[in-house]
Amino acid sequence: MTAPVFRFAPSPNGELHLGHALSALTNQRMADGCGGRLLLRIEDIDLTRCTLEFEAAILRDLTWLGMRWEEPVRRQSEHFGAYAEALDRLRREDLVYPAFMSRGEIRAAIVEHEAGGQHWPRDPDGAPLYPGNDRRLSMRQRSERIDAATPFAWRLDTAAALSRLKSRIGWREWADETMSASEAIFADPLEWGDVIIARREIPTSYHLSVVVDDALQGVSHVVRGRDLYFATSLQRLLQDALGLPQPTYFHHRLVLGPDGRKLSKSLRDTGLDALRQAGETPQSVRSKLGLQ
Ligand code: GLU
Repeated sequence: MTAPVFRFAPSPNGELHLGHALSALTNQRMADGCGGRLLLRIEDIDLTRCTLEFEAAILRDLTWLGMRWEEPVRRQSEHFGAYAEALDRLRREDLVYPAFMSRGEIRAAIVEHEAGGQHWPRDPDGAPLYPGNDRRLSMRQRSERIDAATPFAWRLDTAAALSRLKSRIGWREWADETMSASEAIFADPLEWGDVIIARREIPTSYHLSVVVDDALQGVSHVVRGRDLYFATSLQRLLQDALGLPQPTYFHHRLVLGPDGRKLSKSLRDTGLDALRQAGETPQSVRSKLGLQ
């Protein structure tokens, strides 16, 4: 039997905080508990916000915490070719379309719609869904706009991708980190609408790179925070559309700040570096997180 494969996948666009520590340590504990392997993946597709300094700080903080991972570390910015291949496949299968509406146009369309008294649907993160107009453009209209250098992003035709599947999609979610029980969760990717799969300035997206990499790296167990629970619906759809295997999932509790909200990278006092400098130890960080 092959060993389960886990991964911790931070983005080097800020310093790690207690929430990341919980995620990294939960991955380590679960991998150790079942004789699994643990990979580290640097999710740095956003070349303007991600830096080598933040990446170095991540490695330093994880080492300080006592984390161990397999080498080599996969850095997403070195694999744009793999994501381009996946995008090509979605294009060939007519599951993505060029979406030309600018942010301003999208906003105006929604304001106009809501002025008529009707609510515009929002995704699980609260962002308005993309209006479907461009999905209905003819091939000729698309080529004309592309030839005229109109900026566009590739968006998933979520309804089309869903309608091609033979059965309902979902995933298995572990009840807790002991992995002794799991439940079947129904995926509802339509609640995300037509998400961006690749942009002009970033030729991929978080969702596309994650599913491609999880498959390429043989990740069998995806362990991450509950803030990404709903994203799993969309990622399951992409996995099926691309013929990729499906991992099992565990979305762990989040570490909340004093205001009851999810920690952000700008909250300096919960940053691991700040905690270390204030005299905290890897053991006291574990206790803060409720891990013995
Ligand atoms: N890179 C993502 C983040 O830092 C995590 C991706 C994942 O675990 O699927 O939030």
